[in-house]
Amino acid sequence: MILAEQAEKILNNVPVKLDSETVNLDEALGRILAQDIISRINMPPFNKSAMDGYAVISNDKSKRFKVIETIPAGVIPQKKVHPGECARVMTGGIVPESADRVIIKELTLEENGYIKVLGEEENKNVCIAGEDIKKGDKVLKRGTHIRPQELGVIASMGLDQVKVYKKSKVSVISTGSELALPGKNISQSQIYDSNSYSLSAQVLRTGAQLLGHKMVLDEPDKIEKLISDFLGLCDVLLISGGVSMGDFDYVPSILKNLGFTLHFEKVAFKPGKPTVFGTKQDQYVFGVPGNPVSTFVVFEIFIKPFLLRMMGHSYKPFMSSGILEERIERKKAKRAFYIPVEYREGFIKVLPYHGSAHIHALTRANALLCIPRGVKEIEKGSWVNVRQI
Ligand code: AMP
Ligand code: MG
Repeated sequence: MILAEQAEKILNNVPVKLDSETVNLDEALGRILAQDIISRINMPPFNKSAMDGYAVISNDKSKRFKVIETIPAGVIPQKKVHPGECARVMTGGIVPESADRVIIKELTLEENGYIKVLGEEENKNVCIAGEDIKKGDKVLKRGTHIRPQELGVIASMGLDQVKVYKKSKVSVISTGSELALPGKNISQSQIYDSNSYSLSAQVLRTGAQLLGHKMVLDEPDKIEKLISDFLGLCDVLLISGGVSMGDFDYVPSILKNLGFTLHFEKVAFKPGKPTVFGTKQDQYVFGVPGNPVSTFVVFEIFIKPFLLRMMGHSYKPFMSSGILEERIERKKAKRAFYIPVEYREGFIKVLPYHGSAHIHALTRANALLCIPRGVKEIEKGSWVNVRQI
């Protein structure tokens, strides 16, 4: 058995190959940049009016100003502004030469081609060319996760395509002779396969490509055949169930038969001790225990960072700190223990949780609290860090 930290280290160090591709901006949301984005332009590209109003020379103390032209957004001014003059300018319009202040329309009165200023204002209401981004600036770094705001920046640079890392291709297998497909009638001894769906959804949330999920009985030939079939297609295979000590837990031995090197088979971690990670050239397999909470938590802690790493993203979990609302204690402390909690406005509420089959507990949770290895109790009122899910 290895420590959770050691398992994380192995997953961080195992070599992965990063491939990139060029995609249209419309397909870039959620992808990871495989290039730095260097600005080809100044932003804004010209001195731009931030308001609807009148452009003047800021130290011009004239009593009234002659309106010399109107400048809508998207139009090049024709005239230079002199003392005693102003240009009517719209938000987004170019502030004409020599003007450096826009008096907002609300503070003016226009009569017979002249304006009078009715009040004073501190703001100049001019966005200076290049004040947001300068030509040549590195605006986004390789490895950046593209969210709506990054997409906006890339588009504002005038780029319609961007180089991103290829999506990892992932398949999911659920093993278990007790499993039935949702939608079917089940016998007394069966349960519905929930892991195929929760795991697949977790995969999709990372931005990886899900090739599909399948269920298989606890029969070694069938499991081996399905694993081989999927391995021909995917980069990462996730297998739930069949990794523990039971008579019908065949997954680790099948993986060894297929030539996989298993880097770990047990992690001092709860829920999910019998977690398996194997590699064979550039193929990667995780075997996770079938209890639904174990499957979910093992994915969050180990598989998600690995999948993101395979797609060029150095993921850091989103942590929140808050005050624990009630004391936690446990008898054994040999393993790090993740429990579902609710984080709300700086407080951490421990949720009713009956163990690793209790998937329903996760539906109330928005975070996981780690009780570290060696820690048997955490006092009520302690500050703790939780990991958002
Ligand atoms: P295993 O890891 O195969 O020993 O399974 C541990 C527990 O998880 C057993 O109670 C299984 O019935 C349950 N289980 C295994 N696979 C699934 C699945 N795909 N969906 C829901 N529960 C499962
Ligand atoms: Mg099983």
